Amino acid sequence: MSKPILLLNCGSSSVKYQVIDAESEAVMAIGLIQRIGEDEGTIDHSVGSEKYSQQRAFPDHRIALQQMAAMFAEYGPELKDVVAVGHRCVHGGERFRETTVIDESVIAAMQELIPLAPLHNPPGIAGIEAARAQLPDVKHVAIFDTAFFATLPPQAYTYAIDTDIAKRYGIRKYGFHGTSHSYVSKQAAAFLEKDYSQINQIVAHLGNGASISAIQGGVAVDTSMGLTPLAGLVMGTRSGDVDPGLHGFLAAQAQMSLAEVNTFLNNKSGMQGLSGVNDFRDLEKLIAAGDERAKLAMDVYVRRLLTYVGSYMAVLGGVDVLTFTAGVGENSPDVREKLVRALEPWGFILDPKANQERSKQPRRISTVDSPVTVLVVPTNEELAMARETLAAIS
Ligand code: AMP
Repeated sequence: MSKPILLLNCGSSSVKYQVIDAESEAVMAIGLIQRIGEDEGTIDHSVGSEKYSQQRAFPDHRIALQQMAAMFAEYGPELKDVVAVGHRCVHGGERFRETTVIDESVIAAMQELIPLAPLHNPPGIAGIEAARAQLPDVKHVAIFDTAFFATLPPQAYTYAIDTDIAKRYGIRKYGFHGTSHSYVSKQAAAFLEKDYSQINQIVAHLGNGASISAIQGGVAVDTSMGLTPLAGLVMGTRSGDVDPGLHGFLAAQAQMSLAEVNTFLNNKSGMQGLSGVNDFRDLEKLIAAGDERAKLAMDVYVRRLLTYVGSYMAVLGGVDVLTFTAGVGENSPDVREKLVRALEPWGFILDPKANQERSKQPRRISTVDSPVTVLVVPTNEELAMARETLAAIS
């Protein structure tokens, strides 16, 4: 029997949705609503190879989800068959350590967490409320980006700052992209036919946002994002780690306000700041044309990755598997090659031919006798959310 699950990912001006049959894991519909809150928005709805689009104003998430329901009514599949709704929620704070069935108390607790994710949690909550109004008779489930990292030990999540202040404001490392790190590490173990609890893994989620995690016997023990998703690796437009003194320095020397420093580090830094482009397809073209800034940007990107892999090998006491995932990790043989070559003295031996192959399937890119196995495993956050939702309602 099919078990369609609606998955929702609500951003401030967009909603991504999918219906996945949790039994067969087939995708039944995919949609994207854009420019919520503007004079005119778009909704794109696909069922199999059929694509439908409409343009109209979506003043808020409630009206956007009403239109989504109208698209389902007109073009299918039937929303009344949906057995549950899974909501992607960015920040679960210390309260939400796992996927949670939503009730009023969960919404109230998510509201209390808004200061930790002021850009992400409000649209998430608006989406939950709109979807509950639309589908009141099924369970709604919250899947937190932070939950997979609830297992981090205190020595990994504690910042070396005054403990009273840290406690009062909930300042600690939380980690993000948890749904992807969890899914990909489980897929990696399954692909290798290894027991998840018996191997040490490093997962590099390299998309427009990027993070890396250390997973010891199936338990997350460290990750590069922190209190916010700004920390860690170099990203498309985010700086990742910088000297914490930089904020004060920019305020004093460049007369930037705190808001300006935030925008600078989140939107104008990373590969964009270094090279002028944030997309690796453009970066690779610039490098091929001999652009020195682009070349340095790539070197900085790979060096940051290398220092994280090195430190996570030390934290784990040895690693069995390194896995690349997300847009850059899945599609840039250059990034993978540069990193794995630098790790060769530590037993990561690249198979250059396998590294060049393009595929949507999990694959090995290290040689068969490489002491550490290196994989590419495509992430699929919606499928991971469907599995989480099914488990939570069962
Ligand atoms: P994501 O956030 O996982 O969707 O990843 C998006 C990023 O992946 C883009 O900004 C690009 O930098 C990168 N990307 C996507 N496709 C390719 C490709 N074919 N080659 C290199 N990089 C790619």
